[in-house]
Amino acid sequence: MAKIFCIANQKGGVGKTTTTVNLAAGLAKVGQRVLVVDLDPQGNATMGSGIDKRALELSIYDVLLESSSVLEAKQHSDKAGYDVLGANRELAGAEVELVELERRERRLKAALASVDKDYDFVLIDCPPSLSMLTLNGLCCAHGVIVPMQCEYFALEGLSDLVNTIKQVHANLNADLQIIGLLRVMFDPRITLQNQVSDQLKAHFGDKVFDTVIPRNVRLAEAPSYGLPGVVFDPSSKGAQAFVEFAREMVRRIETM
Ligand code: ADP
Ligand code: MG
Repeated sequence: MAKIFCIANQKGGVGKTTTTVNLAAGLAKVGQRVLVVDLDPQGNATMGSGIDKRALELSIYDVLLESSSVLEAKQHSDKAGYDVLGANRELAGAEVELVELERRERRLKAALASVDKDYDFVLIDCPPSLSMLTLNGLCCAHGVIVPMQCEYFALEGLSDLVNTIKQVHANLNADLQIIGLLRVMFDPRITLQNQVSDQLKAHFGDKVFDTVIPRNVRLAEAPSYGLPGVVFDPSSKGAQAFVEFAREMVRRIETM
């Protein structure tokens, strides 16, 4: 049975997509079968996995509107080493269209049930909002991975996400929990980042992942080559950290 994780944080530019594609590539590297679901109309996870979002014949949009199955709409990325259910701008329309439909927040859950045996991990890259799309992700997930930068306002935005997760847990998906907070773009030379990191550990304890993702320019360069950093430059510090994080996730699901 696949373990399903949302990579979520309602802020933009915090490293959700970078985490999604590099964790996926790291998991593939250690032998896991992975599906990346791109739930962001920007389609960055799609492009960053080497799939051209402009050339998608079927996408997550068709899956949410039930005009296609996951099996039909997914593609394999040879370069990245995992499957991708891609997204493009069309998905922005689904937000409005879904509101009218029945089971509107459970569409993704229903669709993923059909590929449950095909994967060890399903990673869902969420848009930077707590929208109907994100809700679809949260409804089907076993857990949420929250990438965050260790900056002064990092904790402030977290309370909305935590409240949403609590509500979804209470009303829609009793499996849902925060699996962990992932410190990303970390620069150990910056005193403030170390302080915020210590605060995070004091507040959230075990919920803070052991692995820390450093700020690393190779991770930022990789998407322009249509590759996760883990594949683009495996020897870089950023790539190595994500492979380590993949191993940490494999250990975590053994106890779930
Ligand atoms: P989000 O999906 O939350 O909007 P992204 O993953 O797209 O965030 O990251 C935002 C920007 O930061 C991108 O330009 C990305 O390449 C860059 N970035 C993300 N993680 C790192 C990192 N560890 N080191 C350097 N740059 C990073
Ligand atoms: Mg993104």
